[in-house]
Amino acid sequence: MRRKLVVGNWKMNGSLASNASLLSGIVAGYDGSGAEAAVCPPAPYLAQCQQALQGSAVSWGAQDVSRHLSGAFTGEISATMLKDFGCRWVILGHCERRGNHGESNQLVADKTVAALNAGLTPIVCVGESLAQREAGQTDAHCSAQLGAVLDALEPEQLEHIVVAYEPIWAIGTGVTATPEMAQAVHARLRMQLKEKHAQHGAQVRILYGGSMKPDNAAELMAQPDIDGGLIGGASLKAPDFLAIIAAGA
Ligand code: PEP
Repeated sequence: MRRKLVVGNWKMNGSLASNASLLSGIVAGYDGSGAEAAVCPPAPYLAQCQQALQGSAVSWGAQDVSRHLSGAFTGEISATMLKDFGCRWVILGHCERRGNHGESNQLVADKTVAALNAGLTPIVCVGESLAQREAGQTDAHCSAQLGAVLDALEPEQLEHIVVAYEPIWAIGTGVTATPEMAQAVHARLRMQLKEKHAQHGAQVRILYGGSMKPDNAAELMAQPDIDGGLIGGASLKAPDFLAIIAAGA
């Protein structure tokens, strides 16, 4: 039985003041029922989230991590530093990192290992561009992205990862994959996970991300292999985020 998980990816949005009101709205409206809930703020606000969310049913995480443990890596943040601030999750290989920062499949795999070694749960993102979908390359592309990560893991480590399918053409565009389109990709990712380890692969939560909103969340999460959502825009408004969490009940 996979409990649904809804994770807010705040991207590079927020301020101390706006976060305070967003966080108090989420905490006030979430009693731990519905889906499991988490937020991933920009790194400077992790301490604020730790203070606001400690003792609540909402967990928090980061949007990226270094592949390195420590040392001369100006601007990078290590997995143990994220643990110091109570992070449970880290989003890895988001298409905005792959696209804007040239992150390769190998780098995402290395970051996944670094996160797991520190006791974080990586949320590994995969997803195709519109051109790749139109060229019939969706499966090959997503499977190569996931495969690079799986190659770096021991089969038992599948127990500690989350996968997010995020078609690039649906992110921040208002265009959502239909539940059937998303389910078809999720089912293939599930098969690939089960090939690595039948039992743990069946337990991995596969989130959908790409313009998930209160009015389409329930339908998407009703699909057998859609185990929750990675939410961008709609995670910045407490009522919308709470409605998506409730849709995962
Ligand atoms: C995302 O960036 O992970 C995302 C899914 O964004 P949005 O919900 O805004 O499409």
